[in-house]
Amino acid sequence: MRMRCSLCGMTFDDADPLILYRKRRHESWHVPSTTYRRNAIWGSVLWIPLGDNPEK
Ligand SMILES: [Zn+2]
Repeated sequence: MRMRCSLCGMTFDDADPLILYRKRRHESWHVPSTTYRRNAIWGSVLWIPLGDNPEK
């Protein structure tokens, strides 16, 4: 199943064996204290389940 980051819209597939690592790493990207990118969107990530529909 795929899921989308509520802040930036990036999608992830939880069939990925590294999904937990990728999500944690992605969440940290949205934390001001750990990011160095000026264009990062800061906030708490909500993972929006997209189901198995590839159209979403
Ligand atoms: Zn994001």
